Amino acid sequence: MSLKVYKFGGASVKDASHIYNVSNILTKDKGDQIFVIVSAIGKTTNALEIVFQKYIEEGKEGFLNGMVEILDAHLDEADKLKLDSAKLQSKLEVIINDCLVNLERAIKINKSAVYDQIVSMGELFSTNLLSAYLQSKDLRVAWVDLRKIIATDDNFQEGCVDIQQVEKNVNDHIKPLFENVDFVIGQGFIGSAPNGLTTTLGREGSDYSAALMAYGLGVDTLTIWKDVPGVLTADPRRFENVEKLDRMSYKEAIEMTYYGAQVIHPKTIRPLQNRGISLHVKSFIDPKGEGTIISQDGLLNYPPLVVIQDDMILMHISSKDFSFIAENHLSQIFSVLNANQIKLGTMRNSAISFAICVKNPGQEKLANLINDLGQNFSLDMYKNLQLITVRYFNKQLIENLTKNKVVLFDERMKYTIQLVVRPSLELIEKEG
Ligand code: ASP
Repeated sequence: MSLKVYKFGGASVKDASHIYNVSNILTKDKGDQIFVIVSAIGKTTNALEIVFQKYIEEGKEGFLNGMVEILDAHLDEADKLKLDSAKLQSKLEVIINDCLVNLERAIKINKSAVYDQIVSMGELFSTNLLSAYLQSKDLRVAWVDLRKIIATDDNFQEGCVDIQQVEKNVNDHIKPLFENVDFVIGQGFIGSAPNGLTTTLGREGSDYSAALMAYGLGVDTLTIWKDVPGVLTADPRRFENVEKLDRMSYKEAIEMTYYGAQVIHPKTIRPLQNRGISLHVKSFIDPKGEGTIISQDGLLNYPPLVVIQDDMILMHISSKDFSFIAENHLSQIFSVLNANQIKLGTMRNSAISFAICVKNPGQEKLANLINDLGQNFSLDMYKNLQLITVRYFNKQLIENLTKNKVVLFDERMKYTIQLVVRPSLELIEKEG
């Protein structure tokens, strides 16, 4: 008998038929014990972001109205799975009421705290639905509230995890559960701050939750089930002829995810690497497929790996008085970026200007960033760009990737090239 950790993302539990598929995957190997991390179903997290806006604009009324549709969607799937939906409904209503209580405290802190109380409900809902279904199949299942296990600081929307505390909590509260059950179901993406309010780990953070559980439980393998056959050389929605990699090293995976590859959350690798836990990326559509194994040893030679990020902004930051951009300016710029929680895609320094390429953080955050940087620097900004990163590039590939595009900026390292491009040949319009 072996203990495993599986993670199922939103697409793999998006409706009744997918939940049925998940239960088949879980029960495939008789005798296994599995800790299951689950994301919110389908696009629930996006829907909850809208509820958050409604709460900000209309208060409790807006929140409750917004929740009706989300609650109904979960109950509809419960009906299709022939579950006792009245029972599930009362559980989900308790979650909604608890959220209202937390909101009264969160609103006094900041908008990010409010966001986390609301947006975290997707995972609480989905795990209740999945465990109700597994229980209806007479499986030995426990549902856990992982907020009690994943201890974070109070950096809402991007909680920083206290891994030692997580390990202790897992030893004290999760391991003993496996004496009586075969499956323990917990939420991805969420944790709690020292003051007891819910935190989230950043969008798509459920992979990271799964890695933390794998670390705490000391398993050999974490399996992340996805709608692709494994780690691919590029996004199949953008390119034909993508290849699946059979193996990949932790180092390569961390590089790829750092550059924006969406296959796994960038924070996932570190806890796994620290304990030598291999990460298996497999398809829930074709569970027999080999998938990709990410571990200490990868491939000797990698094919070119392409990552494209849209909605990027290129900003030239220069001194107002034509003085050099020296170390003191750079440290000022970085502390503004850090304070505004802006993640850098790429950057380059020249004598009087520092260029950064960042993901558009949304209107409000961007306005704050411009305001903060504008105190001491002049700014030029170009929006709606793409950042193309290629590991193990070759000339021909770069030519193909930049065909009909305007290259505004390129940065070459030994194995990696990054290109900031305008997706068409239209005249570049300067903004800001
Ligand atoms: N549900 C969250 C999101 O959509 C977390 C996750 O799925 O990883 O970002």
